Amino acid sequence: MSAPYPWLGTTWQRLLATRARPAQALLLAGPRGVGKGALALAWARALLCEAPLPDGAACGQCPACHWFDTGGHPDYRLVTLQEKTSKEGETRMATAIEVDQAREAVDFVQLSTYRAGFRVVLVDPADSLNLAAANALLKVLEEPPLNTVFVLVSDQPRRLLPTIRSRCTRLDIGLPPLDEAAQWLAEQGVADGMNLLALSGGTPLDAQRWADSDELDERRGVLEGLARPEQLDPVSLGERWKAVNAQTWHNVAYKWLGDLLAVKLQGNVRFNRDFAEPLTRLGKQADLSKLLQLARQQANEGRTLAHPLNRTLQLQAWLIQYRHLFD
Ligand SMILES: [Zn+2]
Repeated sequence: MSAPYPWLGTTWQRLLATRARPAQALLLAGPRGVGKGALALAWARALLCEAPLPDGAACGQCPACHWFDTGGHPDYRLVTLQEKTSKEGETRMATAIEVDQAREAVDFVQLSTYRAGFRVVLVDPADSLNLAAANALLKVLEEPPLNTVFVLVSDQPRRLLPTIRSRCTRLDIGLPPLDEAAQWLAEQGVADGMNLLALSGGTPLDAQRWADSDELDERRGVLEGLARPEQLDPVSLGERWKAVNAQTWHNVAYKWLGDLLAVKLQGNVRFNRDFAEPLTRLGKQADLSKLLQLARQQANEGRTLAHPLNRTLQLQAWLIQYRHLFD
């Protein structure tokens, strides 16, 4: 089997070369949207396969591959964020991996394996382990049972406990070269790949997600508003934009402010190249200290996205502040 994505080819071969004696705790680190999760899954599948190909990759035919592909391999566990239902009946994704999930994984690795081969625990996103969960896991990472492999996946490895990081063999995955990413996007039928890569900060899977979703239209609507601060009405826009997906809105606003700063400080637009004209004009006009303050605030807001108190009010306050950048 070839690598899950073409830009992961070298990393994938390096991993496969270790299949006979794999790292017992592997940390796959790198920016989001580069395919770390897919690589981790392919690695787990390769380790569990009972008739691997000469290069070490999974055969895709044996019973173990079949179980893995249908989600039922008894020697595999995925530890990830779970959906939770609130008292009001709302379902949302948990913001942390909880301690009972980690304990379950710890219990699992103490059992003997069902099959004769490896046992694999995949933790993704590992930076979402809460402190208690991380500590529970640390105990087994220090002395993993025989034939047990932990694979941790993280966009933000600095958020992991240093003691966890130090137990892991770290494999860094960087952004692919732009032309390689653009070619891959073209092969997936995505037009305008270069523009989308600029928007996504060079991460091909995010660029593909942009292309596949309604987010591009939402983004355009928001940016057309932000491009004309003198005509912007915070009250009605706040009402209208509360319908925009919170994560989308945050990303769009964050990159827009980033572009204004880039114009101010370096004279060029980084992300929203299709809005280069208004950004260049507004960037020159904006007050630097107010802009820095709003950008910092926006970065902090990213962490509290899951719990907006009052979305409309929050947006209106933001828009008023935004308008003052250009007083
Ligand atoms: Zn197989």
